[in-house]
Amino acid sequence: MRLQQHVALVTGAGGGIGRAISEAFAREGAFVGVTDLDGDAAEEVSEAIRNHGGAALGLGMDVTDEASVESAVERVHRERGRLDCVMANAGIQHIDPLEQLDFADWRKVLAVHLDGAFLVTRAALQRMYADGRGGVMLYMGSVHSKEASPLKAPYVSAKHGVAGLCRAVAKEGAAHGVRSNLICPGFVRTPLVEQQIPQQAQELGISEEEVVRNVMLRNTVDQEFTTLEDVAELAVGLAAFPSNALTGQSVVVSHGWHMQ
Ligand code: NAD
Repeated sequence: MRLQQHVALVTGAGGGIGRAISEAFAREGAFVGVTDLDGDAAEEVSEAIRNHGGAALGLGMDVTDEASVESAVERVHRERGRLDCVMANAGIQHIDPLEQLDFADWRKVLAVHLDGAFLVTRAALQRMYADGRGGVMLYMGSVHSKEASPLKAPYVSAKHGVAGLCRAVAKEGAAHGVRSNLICPGFVRTPLVEQQIPQQAQELGISEEEVVRNVMLRNTVDQEFTTLEDVAELAVGLAAFPSNALTGQSVVVSHGWHMQ
């Protein structure tokens, strides 16, 4: 058990990667604040964790809403009187060429990824600094924190922005024992990815199979999707890393799609 006594909070944890990370944190002994825009989904995940002998609290939280973030972070902190690790994971995708992109869609994607990561960071740092125990901030980046793809300008911009926030936290947090790292997955088959396969096929005028083979997996070393387990294992490893030597870094888990 690598996270015993830890209190963790995961955003966007009602499904997909956030759910897998919440379950992995709980298996390693952490108490997990499972939060999501969809409060019922968050409660369902936390119930599943408790049914497997873990400890979790499910809460509705919209990462773009200051009051909602403040109240959920406060609730999780109050539950055990500490907060050791936050995984800022909530995210959305939007597929459109730049010249047709609505300002509202641009803003929505940036709000969830970037405003959301900032609000959760501020609420968490206030408590970690006040408690004096240090902590771990983890951010869900992407290979799109490192490079671009067509049709995903807001997502690519937001994921590059999150990389900057992660480094800023590493610089400022060091004096308080807070470290900060970015997880950069390649494609993982979650609803976020399933939705964009038909959308990309239509935009690019190719079949869905070609989107998977020639767009999503083309540059991997083995034409394989990254799995939920791969990403969750990395998150546990970063959360449990025993010193502040590993901070301000980004770790790419993408079957070699991006090599740095
Ligand atoms: P997903 O759609 O399965 O899950 C995203 C979750 O975020 C959902 O449960 C959704 O309800 C929640 N969410 C959306 N808006 C929110 C808001 N305003 N407040 C709180 N929660 C909100 O997607 P996923 O694939 O699990 O993605 C999780 C993260 O991983 C995202 O940041 C995504 O960009 C990133 N990522 C995914 C992939 C991939 O291939 N799936 C690759 C790299 C990075």
